[in-house]
Amino acid sequence: MIGHPSLNNITEFRPNFVTHLECGLTGQRFERGIVHGLSDAGKPLLVKYDLENLGRSLTREMLKERPADLWRYREFLPVVDSANVVSLSETMTPIVPAPKLGQNVWVKDEGRLPTGSFKARGLCMAVSMAKELGIKRIAMPTNGNAGAALAAYASNAGIEAFVFCPEDTPEVNVREIALQGARVWRVNGLIHDCGRIVREGVGPMGWFDLSTLKEPYRIEGKKTMGLELAEQLGWRMPDVIFYPTGGGTGLIGMWKAFAELAELGWIGSRMPKMIAVQASGCAPIVRAFEQGVEFADEWKDAHTIASGIRVPVAVGDFLILRAVRESGGCAMTVDDEAIQLAQIEAARREGILLCPEGAATLAAYWKAIANGSIGADEEAILFNCASGLKYPMPPAEDRIDMNAPVDWIGLRG
Ligand SMILES: *Cc1c(COP(=O)(O)O)cnc(C)c1O
Repeated sequence: MIGHPSLNNITEFRPNFVTHLECGLTGQRFERGIVHGLSDAGKPLLVKYDLENLGRSLTREMLKERPADLWRYREFLPVVDSANVVSLSETMTPIVPAPKLGQNVWVKDEGRLPTGSFKARGLCMAVSMAKELGIKRIAMPTNGNAGAALAAYASNAGIEAFVFCPEDTPEVNVREIALQGARVWRVNGLIHDCGRIVREGVGPMGWFDLSTLKEPYRIEGKKTMGLELAEQLGWRMPDVIFYPTGGGTGLIGMWKAFAELAELGWIGSRMPKMIAVQASGCAPIVRAFEQGVEFADEWKDAHTIASGIRVPVAVGDFLILRAVRESGGCAMTVDDEAIQLAQIEAARREGILLCPEGAATLAAYWKAIANGSIGADEEAILFNCASGLKYPMPPAEDRIDMNAPVDWIGLRG
């Protein structure tokens, strides 16, 4: 029988290089190996590694021998015992050239991952750590893809999952969550209202709150996007990264990856400009960026077709803003019309079916080119965070009636 490709080669992950965890704001230290939520300041925890020792036991050369999935970076990951790995084979995702969308445009296509979105990266790590730490019941608010990934990994691990989503979450997401064995409820509110239900249920339901950034390990899973990107580019950085930003896990995770790689000396000190893309109907991070403040206020009346980035409050706001500013990047909005247009153009010109959030990065790229904030020669990576197949598509209604002759002229028109 063929098992998990990484695990065929490796029986144990030990030694593990996690030293401790640290509050992203105050630096407060937390012990490894026990369950954590937020810090005393109510802020996300970041996992810290002994990079010096890591660098002594792992080289870039050694990675070449390993299977093409995210567990190839296990020394950079928190799971201690390989027996606790919960995996559905998280493949490395391709960087697809898209020259018809822009001279130097590349799409990192995360839609190829299990459950059809990059949420698989975060949730395979969070659920593996939950297993390692003995957690038996998990709850989570979701705009769709995170819940789907949780459902899949929790079922695989034999952990109970409770999921709460806004009632207008794409139908396919709600149904895949249910089909994959989680309990799922539609809530007549937005994602932070669902988050409140999860928070308030911790006592009565005894579940672990796996909300975005309220546990430390989803960032580590998403961090593999940055490790993978660096390795795929031959241990150099692109000029600019466009990231559709909701809770910001991926942007924070990639920035953490780049910092760790730079500290190891695996990449140089030149960093990519990180561009946080939000929808004009829900842009708390962009507003805070423009106001020059450290934290983002709640965005009222949030709306956009890009449901994955409809996040009015992000607990990691300061970490997103810090990464964007340190990188010399920016935060920018695109409206739903531009998102739809970008989705159509990518599909027609390149045959690449972007999800709305991925399309938002293309719309932002074009906007940034038009207003001169980046040059056409700059190498730009766009994140297509989910398969376009998971979303409603524009209708296609042409039909042929077999009771009448085929109208060939009509077919051409
Ligand atoms: C979750 C999600 C996002 C936002 O990702 P974060 O890292 O949480 O900001 C973007 N697009 C899609 C499709 C998503 O599911």
